Amino acid sequence: MSGEGNGNNEDDKSLEGLRQLIRMLAVKSGIDEAMADDLFDLLLTVDPEKGISDEEVEQMKGYKQADVRKVFRIFYDLRIASYRRGKHPDTGATRYYWYLDSRDADLALLRRKKQVLEKLKMRLEYERSNEFYVCPKDGTRYTFDYAYEYQFTCQKCGTMLVPEDNSSYIRVLENRISRLEEEIKRDERQIFGH
Ligand SMILES: [Zn+2]
Repeated sequence: MSGEGNGNNEDDKSLEGLRQLIRMLAVKSGIDEAMADDLFDLLLTVDPEKGISDEEVEQMKGYKQADVRKVFRIFYDLRIASYRRGKHPDTGATRYYWYLDSRDADLALLRRKKQVLEKLKMRLEYERSNEFYVCPKDGTRYTFDYAYEYQFTCQKCGTMLVPEDNSSYIRVLENRISRLEEEIKRDERQIFGH
């Protein structure tokens, strides 16, 4: 297994994260999530120099223009898509030509990775600064303070709690954090150069 392969895998995961976010926002706006997913795939294939109008999407895919605009608006708010104003080739009416801004998409992914990094760091801090107790029967986890308050018995089943060694979990978190930090550095070099 090469480091390269790992990196690509991480990128796939991040892209999947972005897709999940898009689906969630689509549902929130009352739009079919499969359609939002489909339009994201479509924009991935569109030449950014040309872009695609809502009318062209309607002709290609059969989606209503108003719905297409709503989805593009979601992409725009996520800052992964932009548009330029143009003229309709036949009627001369103003049209908007949408395209996926790959640099913006990269930036959106980078922002997400940084958010994940912050959460992991907070989790690590929490794990390092607390002692934990665990129920040997059902695995319920307690901080020392809670375990003490409950007189070291599990609140679910009443079993006596035992101290938990979280050092291997801490190592997992540390590894994940350093890998993500390297990945972020690499992404920043790619996006901003140097
Ligand atoms: Zn229990």
